[in-house]
Amino acid sequence: MSKILVTGGLGFIGSHTVVELQKEGFEVVIIDNLSNSSINVLDGITAITGKKPIFEKLDLREKSAVQEFFKTHNDVKGVIHFAASKAVGESVENPLLYYENNINTLVYVLQELNKLKEANFIFSSSCTVYGQADELPITENAPVKPAESPYGNTKQIGEEIIKDTCKVSAQLNAIALRYFNPVGSHESALIGELPIGVPQNLVPFITQTAIGLREQLSVFGDDYPTEDGTCIRDYIHVVDLAKAHVVALQRLLAHKNETNFEVFNLGTGTGSSVLEVIKSFERVSGETLNYKIAPRRAGDVIAAYAHTEKANKVLGWKSDLTLDDAMASAWKWEKHIREQ
Ligand code: NAD
Repeated sequence: MSKILVTGGLGFIGSHTVVELQKEGFEVVIIDNLSNSSINVLDGITAITGKKPIFEKLDLREKSAVQEFFKTHNDVKGVIHFAASKAVGESVENPLLYYENNINTLVYVLQELNKLKEANFIFSSSCTVYGQADELPITENAPVKPAESPYGNTKQIGEEIIKDTCKVSAQLNAIALRYFNPVGSHESALIGELPIGVPQNLVPFITQTAIGLREQLSVFGDDYPTEDGTCIRDYIHVVDLAKAHVVALQRLLAHKNETNFEVFNLGTGTGSSVLEVIKSFERVSGETLNYKIAPRRAGDVIAAYAHTEKANKVLGWKSDLTLDDAMASAWKWEKHIREQ
């Protein structure tokens, strides 16, 4: 049973990935500083899998604590690195917080991995690296565009740091996974996206509006050059996304990677407009959503959806769940947390 470190493992994508890792028989150690998560998530994971992961409350910005961790857990076979700050707007207001939390932490973890005999590393990257791509669907070969925010920049710099480290490292093998738009939650509604602050993303805003926490959803722009005029994104169910991490890790553990730094898009390959997402929500929930059309928002790209061939053929993973599945699970989760 290989021991896997999941940083940020109590967060939205991390917690779902821990569940899938445990289902596949991995022993999981979670590091999280609870800056954007709750300790209760540990109970949710345990209730789903019947197994409590090891948990270390630790801030990865503390270099000495990271060093101590790896001294104790020197049998870690792989690391999935989710821990980061992720609010785009906040990153514009406080760039140094983002550079410290998303870059320093990455460097500290890589420094420790460099001391191991063999190290396998999965990095949470994002489709934001492509900006408004010139061609759709977006392949992994599409050029990386100048970042729109410090947050987006941390993902680009993060990939560069890993790539440079891999060039000179005999033992490090890494995969950067570029997520499109992760949505939904585990079907049990025991874990999901925690509602801390005003949601930055569409789906939690939809469910919070439907449950009465927010008065109205604003759809930013209906005059884009798309079929219904609203922006198009590739919404990927978080459980599918979590499974992709397990597949990527198994690829590295089995030495099946072609180079020691690989990049894969993780999306469904299908773009959905904001109005289509709203319709999907209304269809599966039976609710009518209160929304209005608002002016365009600065920085929004018109359309982004993944070319999935590389993930399908090379990684051997493809998404399985639909947008309706994701919206139904997100709604179930929203109702569950409000009942507590
Ligand atoms: P999240 O905020 O739910 O999870 C991140 C977790 O990391 C949280 O539990 C937080 O407490 C922890 N953390 C943050 N800084 C830490 C530190 N210094 N030390 C220890 N723990 C720390 O976010 P998420 O949505 O699960 O995203 C996970 C990763 O995926 C992030 O790197 C994010 O940038 C990336 N990503 C997310 C999305 C998305 O839409 N959710 C899209 C693309 C990429």
